[in-house]
Amino acid sequence: MKTKSWNNYLWIASATYLILGFFNILFAWLGMICFITPLTIALFTGNKGYCHKYCGRGQLLAKLGTKISRDKPMPQFMRTSYFRYGFLIFFMTMFFYMVFITQQVFTGAVDLAEIVTLLWTFEVPWAFANATHVTPWITQYAFGFYSVMVTSTLIGIVTMILYKPRSFCVYCPMGTMTQGICKLKNQGE
Ligand code: SF4
Repeated sequence: MKTKSWNNYLWIASATYLILGFFNILFAWLGMICFITPLTIALFTGNKGYCHKYCGRGQLLAKLGTKISRDKPMPQFMRTSYFRYGFLIFFMTMFFYMVFITQQVFTGAVDLAEIVTLLWTFEVPWAFANATHVTPWITQYAFGFYSVMVTSTLIGIVTMILYKPRSFCVYCPMGTMTQGICKLKNQGE
């Protein structure tokens, strides 16, 4: 029997991350690991090692998918470059908007908003998880980043239920970015 290595259990880290956000929003900063690591691996190695070996979210979707996925193929349009890059542009626009709001809090132009915004639309009061008193912009970034992480997980789960378990990977912004980096890096080889 093939023994599993530590990285086969990273889905637990992903699930724990989502739960920790209910207790202290500052844990959201840990999500930066999932943002920086795939890009760093792609930049240095020219491959998608993170997706293949270390992505806890991908593992979590695969695990849940064995129970609740319809296991149907995705519609063709969701596989196109237009859709993947369109989603990436939209996702990054919202990401930079979140950074802009953090900067506004940093300068004192706006107050800290203790909310988690789901699907970039629904504002959920989240003051109960703001237990530590640190500089407001640090907390604001945590709220914003946690919103991004929960939103992308929700989208991943809906896609997992409707289609194949890891269908989200087809248009995941991190996957699209690392793929782009790998293409550039391996050009001409
Ligand atoms: S495409 Fe996204 S969700 Fe899928 S394994 Fe890569 S980083 Fe994880």
